[in-house]
Amino acid sequence: MGGTFDPIHYGHLVTAEEAFVRFGLDKVVFIPSGNPPHKANRSVSDGSHRFIMAQMATITNPHFDVSRIEVDEDGPTYTVDTLKRLKAGEMRDAELIFITGADAILEICSWKSPRELFALCRFAAATRPGYVVSDELIKSVSAFGADRLEFFEVPALAISSTDIRLRVKEARPVRYLLPDGVISYIIKNGLYR
Ligand code: ATP
Ligand code: MG
Repeated sequence: MGGTFDPIHYGHLVTAEEAFVRFGLDKVVFIPSGNPPHKANRSVSDGSHRFIMAQMATITNPHFDVSRIEVDEDGPTYTVDTLKRLKAGEMRDAELIFITGADAILEICSWKSPRELFALCRFAAATRPGYVVSDELIKSVSAFGADRLEFFEVPALAISSTDIRLRVKEARPVRYLLPDGVISYIIKNGLYR
């Protein structure tokens, strides 16, 4: 499961756990993205912060891991390159499933080398109850292999990192949206103020 994870929250964790069971996975690896180049639109927290928060949030789950593969890179990283590196190394024999939110699938079709990407991994896209898969989405994905994409439902969790960052900034409550340890880490390091 790739993402910015700025910060990681219960939407991510519930989705990962559901995918773990639904697809009979051996483990879920959270891969926080690398640091965007300077002057990128929004200032994303340093990769070391995002990595530590992901570790804190997953530490009690024996089948959750966090990878440094992207945060240790300078500049932007592309999922296709990350997956190729994983496949060349420790995950040589693994069957890879990329877990994502269904809303991100259209975006993925515009990522670097989508054809190669869909060959490297299958996609598991989380939908909320009542979510209707649009014809536009099916059409976009079918160019790369619709059989490489599967939807799965997670309980409605209208949690986003954007909302959490705004709440921290405005001193509104964030408790129960993300793990307590992550909240303490955010306060201690003065993130999102
Ligand atoms: P931001 O608001 O900064 O975009 P985010 O909450 O969307 O953050 P990301 O790090 O962008 O979090 O998301 C990583 C992955 O998790 C993406 O595939 C995204 O679609 C998925 N995701 C994010 N929030 C949820 C949620 N509440 N339920 C299910 N999946 C989610
Ligand atoms: Mg997002």
